[in-house]
Amino acid sequence: MSSVNDHKNHDTSNMGFATQAIHAGATPDQYGALVPPVYMTSTFAFETVEQGAAMFEGELAGHFYSRVSNPTVDILERRFAALEGAAAAVGFASGMGGIASTLWTLLSAGDEIIADETLYGCTFAFMEHGLTKFGVKIKYVDLQNVDAFEAAISADTKIVYFETPANPNMRLVDIAAICEIAKAKGLTSVVDNTYSTPYLTRPIELGADLVVHSATKYLGGHGDLIAGLVAGSAELMLRIRVEGLKDMTGAVMSPLTAHQIMRGMKTLELRMDRHCATAMMIAEELEAHPAVQQVFYPGLKSSPDHRLALKQMYPKGISSLGSGRYFGGMIAFELKGGIEAGRTMMNALSLVKRAVSLGDPDSLIQHPASMTHASYTPEERASHGITDGLIRLSVGLETPADILADLMKGLEAIPIMQGKAA
Ligand SMILES: *Cc1c(COP(=O)(O)O)cnc(C)c1O
Repeated sequence: MSSVNDHKNHDTSNMGFATQAIHAGATPDQYGALVPPVYMTSTFAFETVEQGAAMFEGELAGHFYSRVSNPTVDILERRFAALEGAAAAVGFASGMGGIASTLWTLLSAGDEIIADETLYGCTFAFMEHGLTKFGVKIKYVDLQNVDAFEAAISADTKIVYFETPANPNMRLVDIAAICEIAKAKGLTSVVDNTYSTPYLTRPIELGADLVVHSATKYLGGHGDLIAGLVAGSAELMLRIRVEGLKDMTGAVMSPLTAHQIMRGMKTLELRMDRHCATAMMIAEELEAHPAVQQVFYPGLKSSPDHRLALKQMYPKGISSLGSGRYFGGMIAFELKGGIEAGRTMMNALSLVKRAVSLGDPDSLIQHPASMTHASYTPEERASHGITDGLIRLSVGLETPADILADLMKGLEAIPIMQGKAA
């Protein structure tokens, strides 16, 4: 079943992040094609019946059906594993496909997950409305409180699951502290690293067992695909491939999508440097604006997570010549006029697009309570730290002054800014 490919590769394992993002896992074809061919094939012919049987037994490496593995997807999986500092990785049709395949592989009826209070809306819905139907128990704990986590662990707890920074309110979780306890208690730790990307945070190096991603976001990086990636030990990834992916979800990544993600990942470091530098500037400008109540961005000194961000979010190695400000491209904020002011502001924007998703070259803005996190009830949002006035901004790659000018135009449209009664 393994997709091991024994071509001789140029070893980039001791090289910088950008080098690995461009070269890791490359397997030259017979023509020496610089960009790996896109193997649009569902099946692979065996030389003999015996050879096919040996592949199905896992005794012989090779590809036999693209729901299990595919040569193009395989190169992306190796490259992504290298970036996350993991032994292996698997590609999926979406981030949700990867998350569902992972949790369904690891859990049985009666088991319990401890999940952070703040989760991306569809992850919350999958756990709260999906997994519970099959007898899995979910306990939501504020994982910023390490003692509360330790106290919450029961004999049934199998997994601890969190995002950092969390979607949408930007809370950070101390990966090393949580994963150390998880390891001591025999739990599997799963970290959604979509917001940070492996350029800024490598959870496996900090003790996590598995890293899950929506590759739709910064990894693809161009807003033109839906995909997921999961990385971890060779043993866990083989199980997730043959149980969760092959038999339970079938959420397979297309070879063409793998090609697009590899193209996107070649500029991941360059793009993240720019996303981070522009987001830092925008966060500072928003915080200084009279219409803004509060800005949630780990780069701000006012952020309660700033010290943790300095410890946990920094560019990989010495390869970077970037901005020196590395807190990601996502910002959340609240306006003094609440969500009414937020609607007025968002509707007055023209460059920044009103859209969900994130990590695109295009700046995107949205209202989590009515959009990405509408799968929570109002009561659930309140108890999970997602306020109704919160606005989420994905800072794009446009000219920074143009993004700022559009946001300022939106803020000026709020009645209190025009001296009118709100
Ligand atoms: C978007 C997102 C997901 C889901 O990914 P899809 O590719 O849309 O399925 C999961 N986690 C986080 C943090 C996300 O932002």
